[in-house]
Amino acid sequence: MGKDDVIVVTGGGGFIGGHLVADLVRQGYRRIRSVDIKPVDDWYQAFPEVDNVRLDLRAEDASHQAVRGARFVFNFAADMGGMGFIETHKADCMLSVMIDTNMLLAARDCGAERFFYASSACVYAADKQNSPDVLPLKESDAYPAMPEDGYGWQKLFSERMCRHFSEDYGLATRVARYHNVYGPHGSFGGGREKAPAAICRKVIVALMRGKHEIEIWGDGEQTRTFTYIDDCVAGTRALMASDVAEPINVGSDELVSINQLVDIVERIAGVRLQRRFNLDAPTGVRGRSSDNTMIKQKLGWAPSIPLVEGMQKTYRWIHGQLHHR
Ligand code: NAD
Repeated sequence: MGKDDVIVVTGGGGFIGGHLVADLVRQGYRRIRSVDIKPVDDWYQAFPEVDNVRLDLRAEDASHQAVRGARFVFNFAADMGGMGFIETHKADCMLSVMIDTNMLLAARDCGAERFFYASSACVYAADKQNSPDVLPLKESDAYPAMPEDGYGWQKLFSERMCRHFSEDYGLATRVARYHNVYGPHGSFGGGREKAPAAICRKVIVALMRGKHEIEIWGDGEQTRTFTYIDDCVAGTRALMASDVAEPINVGSDELVSINQLVDIVERIAGVRLQRRFNLDAPTGVRGRSSDNTMIKQKLGWAPSIPLVEGMQKTYRWIHGQLHHR
């Protein structure tokens, strides 16, 4: 990417998009357009030197407006959230195919050179994730298809659309399957937050209220890997610059149970809380980890930031947010 190329980031007012824009600004890219449906005042990060545009990308003319003159397009815009959101908003999640479809069409029509798509580990077949003792998911495990209802189907459909836009229209596409990305400047309350931010918030609020109890969704024995945002941005940039045309995992392989994640946050906060397990809450698959063989082979790189380190930074940021309201 040249420093004067027009680079468009959709979902730029959101968590990952905001961090990518921040990184591009730091690297000296001069013509960045960041697009989001939210008013700019509500963006997690906004930079004055960036062309910040408010558009609803479900509309075809809006997506054409968004990509005008673009050489590189990063598509992060989606109506999404953590388990609590995606299990109760399946239709809303699926409607994000409108964004993906319009963005691909607009990128094709404006002659963009390369299109990045933010897919998810939720595309992986459910029957390969039934045990907390996981076999890490390799890229081929997405088929035969049985992804997460709603959100996972949307992602898998759009992944395939990327592939066919490449094959039929010559638009080069790059697809990352992110595994649970976390870090500062993201959602930590209101229903769209994911486990790392939710646990930080619950521990901080317990301390603020002097109520030494925490609610955990499920029995806490479900396992996951969590990818710190700096690794996510580095992987995204490397993938976009690469010749890897097929979907690829961008995820940590440091496996923990939710109970172990709570242990980490309690250690950061210097507290032990009574755990109350809510067995009726949505928990998603039983276990999931990223097989990083392909990313190491193709990019010579894989996420490596330790969970403890990333959680310290995330905790500190959420602590600041909650104490300065
Ligand atoms: P986010 O919710 O913080 O960001 C998404 C942004 O898209 C939001 O700011 C939202 O306002 C915007 N948006 C929604 N509908 C829009 C529309 N119609 N027009 C324009 N903008 C719209 O989420 P995120 O965590 O930054 O995720 C970014 C992308 O990465 C998403 O596509 C998501 O599915 C994918 N992803 C994220 C994770 C993760 O752990 N965060 C994991 C896998 C995949």
